[in-house]
Amino acid sequence: MLTNALYIISTPIGNLGDISPRAKGILQEADVIACEDTRVSKKLFSLLGLSLQKKFITYHDHNEEEKAQEITDIIAGGKAVALISDAGSPLISDPGYKLVRKCREQNVNVTAIPGACAVITALQLSGLPTNRFMFAGFIPNKEKAREDLFNELKNIDTTLIFYETAPRLIKTLEKGAEIFGNREIAVARELTKIHEETLTGSFSDIIASFSQTEPKGEFVVMIAPPDNKENIFSSEAVADLLREKMQSVSLKSAVKEVAQISGLNKNEVYDLALRIKNDEL
Ligand code: SAM
Repeated sequence: MLTNALYIISTPIGNLGDISPRAKGILQEADVIACEDTRVSKKLFSLLGLSLQKKFITYHDHNEEEKAQEITDIIAGGKAVALISDAGSPLISDPGYKLVRKCREQNVNVTAIPGACAVITALQLSGLPTNRFMFAGFIPNKEKAREDLFNELKNIDTTLIFYETAPRLIKTLEKGAEIFGNREIAVARELTKIHEETLTGSFSDIIASFSQTEPKGEFVVMIAPPDNKENIFSSEAVADLLREKMQSVSLKSAVKEVAQISGLNKNEVYDLALRIKNDEL
């Protein structure tokens, strides 16, 4: 029997095989399933061969406020409640945050069973830097709001990730081209499904590609960080940093550290280090 708690459970984003045995076990044993849409979740249960003999309650954007306390009370009363979304990881551009907050405030146990999440899967496939990234949710539909958001984010030094829908994709990419210029981008669609595809290139490359084949399915749009390393680190500044490091650590370690700090290619930094060592610089 499960202990009473809120179990946040990630479900597949396309491929049913991505449900974990642990997630399946908890879905089977939970007393109550809190879900966005009971029809979608009952279908998932049937496909996974799970019993439907339990209570399903809806918890979505429009009733989050009132339902959060009701669900917290159910758990406090001794029940195990599993929170799921229509697909993927609950709380990530999906409801759940207010419920988790309420549980924490009232010392009700919360735990999470990790699994599929479109942001992470897309980032892994993008070929864009993963050391720092910012997920900014859905891109607003209104032109002004979209433009304001892009302007707000354009100088942030991280890979930017957004959710987007097929009908809006081209408009978004056109606005992106205007604001982000020639930054590299990646667009992932239909992740874990038969038509999974990840395209990379400039905004105009991707627009051209989707002008030939109409965008279909679910999309994640990613934008590379601004390429401003040269502005921040002139070659003189890198050389100075290298000289300083080479006094205290080995040439190899100095190269590694300076490459990390400056974001420059290791080979370039190594060449500089050799020239410093040979008094050519
Ligand atoms: N919480 C979910 C997650 O992150 O796993 C996302 C829910 S959000 C309401 C739905 C959006 O996520 C879609 O419009 C799309 O942008 C993205 N998404 C979900 N599944 C996807 C997939 N298989 N391939 C690409 N994008 C997907």
